Amino acid sequence: MNHSQPRRDFLQQSLAAATLWSLLPDSLKADEHRTDSLSLSRFTVDITPPEGHSLCGGWITPVKDVTDELQALGLILQGAGKPIVVMAIDWTALSNGGHLLWRTKIAEAVGTTPERVAIHCVHQHNAPFACLEAQAIVEAQGDLPHIVRLDYFHDCIDRISRAAKESLTHLSPVSHVGKGEARVEKVASNRRIYRDENGVIKAMRGSSCKDPKLRAMTEGTIDPMLKTISFYNKDQCVAAIHYYATHPMSYYGDGLVTSDFVGIARKRLQQEQPDCHHIYFTGAAGNVSAGKYNDGSHPVRPILAQRIYEGMIGALKNTTKSPIESVSWRTVEMLPEVRSTFDKDELLKVISNKDGSVVSRNRPSYMLAWLNRVQRKQPIVLSSLGINDISTIHLPAESFIEYQLRAQKLAPKQFVATAAYGDGGPWYLPVKEEYPAMGYEVRVAFCEPTIDDIMTAGIKELLGV
Ligand SMILES: [Zn+2]
Repeated sequence: MNHSQPRRDFLQQSLAAATLWSLLPDSLKADEHRTDSLSLSRFTVDITPPEGHSLCGGWITPVKDVTDELQALGLILQGAGKPIVVMAIDWTALSNGGHLLWRTKIAEAVGTTPERVAIHCVHQHNAPFACLEAQAIVEAQGDLPHIVRLDYFHDCIDRISRAAKESLTHLSPVSHVGKGEARVEKVASNRRIYRDENGVIKAMRGSSCKDPKLRAMTEGTIDPMLKTISFYNKDQCVAAIHYYATHPMSYYGDGLVTSDFVGIARKRLQQEQPDCHHIYFTGAAGNVSAGKYNDGSHPVRPILAQRIYEGMIGALKNTTKSPIESVSWRTVEMLPEVRSTFDKDELLKVISNKDGSVVSRNRPSYMLAWLNRVQRKQPIVLSSLGINDISTIHLPAESFIEYQLRAQKLAPKQFVATAAYGDGGPWYLPVKEEYPAMGYEVRVAFCEPTIDDIMTAGIKELLGV
């Protein structure tokens, strides 16, 4: 294996030339390797929460029963510097200190560093919405439902770390990488479609929508393509990572834990192709859901699952393979500006108002957790895995679809696949033009509109453009 000259020096100089205060100094790390000895290991861990556990932050019915299990699905690449870990979990979100803790524990277990571990949620809602800091805030109130139970939270990461470590004893050589995409029909639609003459949102199309007028409106801005990156040991496909941008809920709030339609599609494919490890990442779907095509009734769930499944099959069928020549891992750290309306005392007042609803008190606890996290200067880490002309982009939280489309446009010669719902701390991440349009997502966006320029600069650094 030859180590090519890292681009770090050049990139650091170009970063220094930029005047973006919010990309942290010395934040870019670029690590590139030419390799003919890449290997991969896989792990799957059941992370289904126990009966009575909160779902989606505690403001919907807690766990009554389990329709199908929630999973953590990971892949570890070795042979290109320290191990690289990518993992998708069937949770609503994993935020702030908890996200860093999980990356740190997995890194320790497999002998790498936390910035080489990317953890993303698939974002189902009959699932845990974990934030340790928000949990501590609601626990101090004494009368609010828990956000995440600490014994469950730590048990999950302990079992995941053990499984990740154990997987290293079952390495598959990887000789080729594949890229393929297929259009998914009638799943994704933009939620922010109904606007007044000034462009201000009048009503949103949620993850499900019963209003025929809203459902009849156009799909709006989406990315219709499901992209798949696959790894081969000669002719044998050993892992396939799928990316598609939509909120993954068909219906929720009934206390029945489920990986929902994207998880059902993934599990079906996994059952049909047991030798290939299938992972699904939700793309930048902050403003995208199945609302146009989903009235929230039970029969729609398997229909949406079938469409995602067909997208995965199509992307695999359209795959072109090439021998692996180079592998890189790049990271950029950024520290966004907290929404200027956030005030610690005001938030605490709302949280401690015993007459308020759970959602009106638990939600500001996530806001306060975010405010505290930025004040202690824990950065958001953006990362990218590059293999030949393929680049993944790992984004935080509920990034808007425009970021994903922008990433692909910025690097037209690369095959760019975006995973969002990494560190969930900042909640919604609209593009700057969407702030004046208001609507639900903007109301619960935890960053100032400057996040757009900061994140776009980070994406450019990752893509080397
Ligand atoms: Zn969401």
